[in-house]
Amino acid sequence: MLGANMNSRKPLIAGNWKMFKTCEEAVETARQLVKLVADDTVDVMIAPAFTSLMPVSDVVKGSCVALGAQNLFWEPEGAYTGEISSGMLVSAGCSYVIIGHSERRQYFGETDLTVNKKIKAAIKDNLMPVVCVGESEKERESNHTFSVLDKQVEKGLESLTLNDLETLIIAYEPIWAIGTGKTATSKQAQEVHKYLRLLIKKKFGNNLADSIRILYGGSVKPDNIKELMLMPDVDGALVGGASLKAETFSKIINFQI
Ligand code: PEP
Repeated sequence: MLGANMNSRKPLIAGNWKMFKTCEEAVETARQLVKLVADDTVDVMIAPAFTSLMPVSDVVKGSCVALGAQNLFWEPEGAYTGEISSGMLVSAGCSYVIIGHSERRQYFGETDLTVNKKIKAAIKDNLMPVVCVGESEKERESNHTFSVLDKQVEKGLESLTLNDLETLIIAYEPIWAIGTGKTATSKQAQEVHKYLRLLIKKKFGNNLADSIRILYGGSVKPDNIKELMLMPDVDGALVGGASLKAETFSKIINFQI
């Protein structure tokens, strides 16, 4: 068995479809994917655009593929034009939600504070948050990777309890590796994942540090997933571009075959 499976953490391979695919295209890709994924030793999630959640939910119902959203707003309802609440996501069939993706931080002004509020809202409605953290190229080059992560974890998870964090997933996504074709080496990923697990241990103790899943994200492809998954602290992947085609994504999901 590969890295993550040597411990009790079940790998999660998650696909972030970003602002791609019409409803019809999303449904078709989900249909193809469901046929290609039968292995329940790996958790699988796809996060289509909001408009495709309902129709894709019908397609994945009863399969090994779970549904996630790419964002949410922290208020349960109200005059917040254009926003979507955690309750709405649950009613559309979601069990996961991606929070604090670097594209949201970069283009839509998300901060560690908004990330924290969103995590709390998700947990309240039993959505599993996939919380993205990661450094920019400049921050890595100036040796600030760990201090950036310290702050993102400290502020992002502020005032959350052990209970709250039971289903939370961290995705380490170095910004310089997202959509660039530049993957962190498995050694670089392991170094950061190990550090993040240590941070969780210091803040929340051994049990959570042992059980929390830490995904790697950044140009994951069928030909680099195996090597990444061999790392003891890499528990899965958050995949953007390579999740858009069912066949390619299924090769990543079926990394053990
Ligand atoms: C992402 O969007 O989270 C991501 C990792 O994208 P890509 O796989 O395309 O780098």
